[in-house]
Amino acid sequence: MTMRMHLKPEAAGSGLTSQRVRDRLVERLRANGIADERVLNAIRTVPRHLFVDEVLATRAYEDTALPIGHGQTISQPWVVARMTEALMASEPKKVLEIGTGSGYQAAVLAALGLEVHTVERIGELLRIARKRFRTLGLTVRSKHDDGRIGWAENGPFDAILVTAGAPALVDALQQQLVPGGTLIAPVGAANAQSLVKLVKRADGSVDEQVLAPVVFVPLLSGIVD
Ligand code: SAH
Repeated sequence: MTMRMHLKPEAAGSGLTSQRVRDRLVERLRANGIADERVLNAIRTVPRHLFVDEVLATRAYEDTALPIGHGQTISQPWVVARMTEALMASEPKKVLEIGTGSGYQAAVLAALGLEVHTVERIGELLRIARKRFRTLGLTVRSKHDDGRIGWAENGPFDAILVTAGAPALVDALQQQLVPGGTLIAPVGAANAQSLVKLVKRADGSVDEQVLAPVVFVPLLSGIVD
């Protein structure tokens, strides 16, 4: 169910932003343990260089986080791939992302054919991300709000992905999961978190598993323009 993305030549990239370079990143992710072909394909398809400032475009296919302004970062491709793979294991249809940032993770989820909802607290980042979704013809529902309250009106969700770190899992988000739903979030101290996967069982009990050590910017409260 992978989306067809019709990229104009300038969007498809050239040189260090070309398809060949994206393919090389995919091979590197595969070598580093990412096995879900659907996820690898989505990363092969989505032009990450369009989700960073032009001056950083030539670094977009390095496996590293990059600054996107406002003290925030676009996540490292391996982390995006690992989170997406963990989420896809439960075959979700409708997903919520907290922390739109550049919009890249949301675009990867949309490229997988999922119904994507995303919440961002920094208005300017969200406006730029929305433009990117439009340029690429991706359908992503988005909201400018404090994502720690989730998006109850649009829920419940089959899966929720939090892309900013907090000392503990957020209860409000667990409540917006369907029975059997999956929550994936970085949990722990600033600059050293564990990527946690929580599955909410049908009887309401939860199963928690640590997937990998990760580094995310912090989940903050309130919204800014
Ligand atoms: N998924 C993003 C990663 C961006 S970094 C990407 O693919 O680029 C994390 C983002 O979470 C930042 O943009 C930050 O502003 C946002 N964020 C932090 N706390 C938040 C909150 N409470 N609600 C919504 N967004 C939040």
